Amino acid sequence: MTTTRRTMIAGNWKMNGLKSDGKKLASALARRMKKLKKPNFEMVICPPYPLLGLASEAIKASGVKLGAQDCHSATSGAHTGDVSAELLKNIGCKTAIVGHSERRTDHGESDALVKAKAEAAIGAGMSVIVCIGETLRQRESGRAMSVNRKQLQGSLPDSATARNTVIAYEPVWAIGTGKVATPEQAQEVHAVIRRELAKMIGEKEADKVRILYGGSMKPGNAKELLSLPDVDGGLIGGAALNADDFWAIAASVD
Ligand code: PEP
Repeated sequence: MTTTRRTMIAGNWKMNGLKSDGKKLASALARRMKKLKKPNFEMVICPPYPLLGLASEAIKASGVKLGAQDCHSATSGAHTGDVSAELLKNIGCKTAIVGHSERRTDHGESDALVKAKAEAAIGAGMSVIVCIGETLRQRESGRAMSVNRKQLQGSLPDSATARNTVIAYEPVWAIGTGKVATPEQAQEVHAVIRRELAKMIGEKEADKVRILYGGSMKPGNAKELLSLPDVDGGLIGGAALNADDFWAIAASVD
């Protein structure tokens, strides 16, 4: 079965930048995007929460979409420091990343919590980018496939469809390390993820779900990764902080 999946180029700014940096970066991308008649990719930027408002203003009517780096699983309430999916949607976010390995590690987020957050985002009318990925130790002990299958089973929202859910395969050992998965490694895991998705939501729907690769994607390695049959885009950290690099990655989409 072959479906055309629109390539997504998503930038995770993490906890980087001040107001002026965020405005400059978002505006530079918006300016370039506006010049394209029919981009062959979807571009998403995920700034830190306090920069969402100014980024939203900067990308207005450009086609660049706004995303959040996380959301809470509840719609409102006594959750100091957290932000609800409803509010994120309300201020212009179209999507939210959930289950990033840094949240799983720094905040001890479980698959069940990631799933609840994904359900909340979808319930609020956004889509989600659900992150999964194995550690180096898990890969070296031959468990990469089983770990990714298990994380997917535990984190995928029950209401997942190709419209509201994107999966990001992000090997933990490749995030921010400069070590990138080989094309063979990436394609192998992406194919396993798609097969697992087929079991969970049916083959027809799974065929339409976008699976992004994340982990030290740069202008120099993006083309090869993005041309793999089951790689439908990238979730980019470091290189998303530089407009030229992020744009070069997007421009390498065939
Ligand atoms: C990420 O944070 O999702 C990521 C992939 O980071 P980097 O591109 O810096 O490895």
